[in-house]
Amino acid sequence: MNSQNLLKISRQFGAPVYVYDAEKIASQYQRLTNAFKGVGSLRLNYAAKALSNISILRLMNQLGSGLDTVSIQEVKLGLMAGFKPESIIFTPNGVSLEEIEEASALGVQINIDNLSVLEQFGSKHPDVPVCIRINPHVMAGGNSKISVGHIDSKFGISIHQIPHLLRIVDLTKMNINGIHMHTGSDILDIDVFLYASEILFETAKNFKNLEFIDFGSGFKVPYKKGDIETNIEELGKKLTTRFNQFCEEYGKELTLAFEPGKFLVSEAGYFLAKVNVVKQTTSTVFASVDSGFNHLIRPMLYGSSHEISNISNPKGRERYYSVVGYICETDTFGSNRRINEISEGDILCFKNAGAYCFTMSSNYNSRFRPAEVLWYQGKAHLIRERETFDDILRNQVDVKNLFETPKAEVIK
Ligand SMILES: *Cc1c(COP(=O)(O)O)cnc(C)c1O
Repeated sequence: MNSQNLLKISRQFGAPVYVYDAEKIASQYQRLTNAFKGVGSLRLNYAAKALSNISILRLMNQLGSGLDTVSIQEVKLGLMAGFKPESIIFTPNGVSLEEIEEASALGVQINIDNLSVLEQFGSKHPDVPVCIRINPHVMAGGNSKISVGHIDSKFGISIHQIPHLLRIVDLTKMNINGIHMHTGSDILDIDVFLYASEILFETAKNFKNLEFIDFGSGFKVPYKKGDIETNIEELGKKLTTRFNQFCEEYGKELTLAFEPGKFLVSEAGYFLAKVNVVKQTTSTVFASVDSGFNHLIRPMLYGSSHEISNISNPKGRERYYSVVGYICETDTFGSNRRINEISEGDILCFKNAGAYCFTMSSNYNSRFRPAEVLWYQGKAHLIRERETFDDILRNQVDVKNLFETPKAEVIK
């Protein structure tokens, strides 16, 4: 995906716009598959919440991926995108028993992450195979905002509660067919991940009818120069050896599952926004784009750093800029960035805009959400239209009749 093509897309579809490179998604999928080619049965379930456009889900389905979902709506989107129910796993957190039953009735694999719902679901539906989400209490990565396996985390059933869990399984006679963990969004240290895997293997020995072990995700991709990325190939080698050894001990070939989101789509995404104003202040030069945290919230929410370049003036002299949005709040995308000289009307390109960008967008300030474009085999395909004013009004109920009585009459 080169900047000439991105520039053309911004002219054709307008800005702001998200662009996704199908080829990059496919090559990331392939890379992960290759890293685990030594495993007899591998299953990659794309985490829909990273980027849930139905056309992206179709692409994932076509690549051979399964789907990891966290809401009944994502389950339904997955089915609409052509996934078979058995290729979908439902891994919610804190949802009602009714929602889990609704997903189960659609035939998808259920993954339960607390004892209360496990006991209720097992009592009512002992014949439905269920996966359980374990919290191994391992802190993967240093950022507690995105580490979900540690002791204070709300996710998963604590390994210290295994005796209670086994009691529930025993009493309800339910069938546990998978065990799962998702330790956090940053696997920086492969040994920490392997350590958590050992806890999962130890837990697995308690269940006789397992079909799969799901190691979740957390593959880190680089966002800026110098970022550490998960060494997938090394992880593949080490975990494959250990997994195959475990299957022998267990006496059955199990499926090794992962649920990558960011790894598959982050680097495939580009966000293009137009510069409205260049403003020189006493301390910096601001470049204000026609966007804000209503379109891309990660820098403000997680402090994440997205590389920003000026694709309208790639040869221009580099200067320091603060790139900000047009929202009436502080919405800084990046401070002190070296960017080729920016003029009003230029198109800035934000990298790593595939994962958790569009899916976290909103209508704050009554702005439209951007369009989405898929770049596939050298052509641009619109996969979401830019919103219009009708979308802003949709579902709003205008109670104007309530207020039409003249004030004087109300007083009387
Ligand atoms: C969000 C999520 C993922 C995907 O995480 P990434 O860091 O994007 O790969 C996987 N599994 C579960 C259960 C999740 O909630």
